[in-house]
Amino acid sequence: MDTSALATAQAQLAAAVEILGYDAGVHEMLATPRREMRVAVPLRRDDGSFELLHGYRVQHNISRGPGKGGLRYSAAVDMDEVRALAMWMTWKCALVDVPYGGAKGGVTIDPLTHSLGELERTTRRFTSEIMPMIGPERDIMAPDVGTDERTMGWIMDTFSVNAGYTIPAVTTGKPLAIGGSLGRATATSRGVVDVADAALTDAGVALSEVKVAIQGFGKVGSHAAAMLHSMGASVTAISDQFGAVVNPDGLDIPALMAHTAATGKVVGFDGGDPVDHAAVLTADVDVLIPAAVAGAIGAEVASQVKARWVVEGANGPTTVEGDRVLADRGVQVVPDVLANAGGVVVSYFEWVQANQAYWWTEAEITERLGQRMRTAYDAVAARSRSEGLSMRDAATVIGVGRVAQAHRIRGLYP
Ligand code: GLU
Repeated sequence: MDTSALATAQAQLAAAVEILGYDAGVHEMLATPRREMRVAVPLRRDDGSFELLHGYRVQHNISRGPGKGGLRYSAAVDMDEVRALAMWMTWKCALVDVPYGGAKGGVTIDPLTHSLGELERTTRRFTSEIMPMIGPERDIMAPDVGTDERTMGWIMDTFSVNAGYTIPAVTTGKPLAIGGSLGRATATSRGVVDVADAALTDAGVALSEVKVAIQGFGKVGSHAAAMLHSMGASVTAISDQFGAVVNPDGLDIPALMAHTAATGKVVGFDGGDPVDHAAVLTADVDVLIPAAVAGAIGAEVASQVKARWVVEGANGPTTVEGDRVLADRGVQVVPDVLANAGGVVVSYFEWVQANQAYWWTEAEITERLGQRMRTAYDAVAARSRSEGLSMRDAATVIGVGRVAQAHRIRGLYP
């Protein structure tokens, strides 16, 4: 069985289309990206040599508003992965009801083996190459795996310099000093924690009683760990791409964050024992938060997961087979398009603030984010109960249904 991100995304759409009873034509329209751009990104390396990178931007759907979605830097990224990620953005934006379609981008660069200058030149060249496709009313990029607020600053600057004036709303997830939003850096994690808390509360379990394992200690995993720790949960296992640490009595997350800030990895932390990083997914915990890569939980891993809840911080961490095995074993999956939507919600707030040139307080942002996550969670939980669907199917059905409704109401031109 094909366990790629695109096969997974397509299978999830097919399941939703079947539940909704749409015909083959509507299915094909929803399955097919509206626009795609593939560009060559030549990079002059610091040593004077040239490297040819490949860049992609896919607008999966733009019926509810501009394309919206992150930009991923990874040596392995390709058009199909970007297509999958763009499709997930479409359902995610519709589910949390922000006025966007879904898009995603990628460049085949490993940020760990390139200097800051090389990353900046790559970002500016890629931005120039895809310039006709992006803009505050067309397609708005944000950070994803391998990119950060600095990347968004370079994109905003390149776009603005070419236009001749400053256009902050062309990217989100920017540094605060140039029009970023308070709360954006921690928004995805906050949303993950909000929905984890809601799922536990539905089952009569308090967050302060649970043990949590987190795969990934980057933008999503690290802040989620810190929030859960401060709310009294016991985070007992954490991995990153280099290794993992466990402590059955609970890891001291602030100390672990200080350690990773200094060394760049979780291994070597003296407040826990080193384990193989795969062990985190099957750790003896109540809640598992995969917050790293797609396809981490296949059938084999799923058969060994001990958690009762899987809350997907990453995009596409569970394969279709993995999903089936988890469901058979009674593990509840809170799906990515719901669980990690906090990032794009605060991206929307950042875009609104930039368009109005009026900035909100952190308290306003946190409260409005919480409301949107709660509304989306309640809608998914209600649909799941009323139709006997998994939370994944319920979330996809709601997102797909809203996009199809926009198509119906707009009609077909000509
Ligand atoms: N890359 C994030 C995601 O996958 C954020 C996207 C955005 O804020 O546009 O949801």
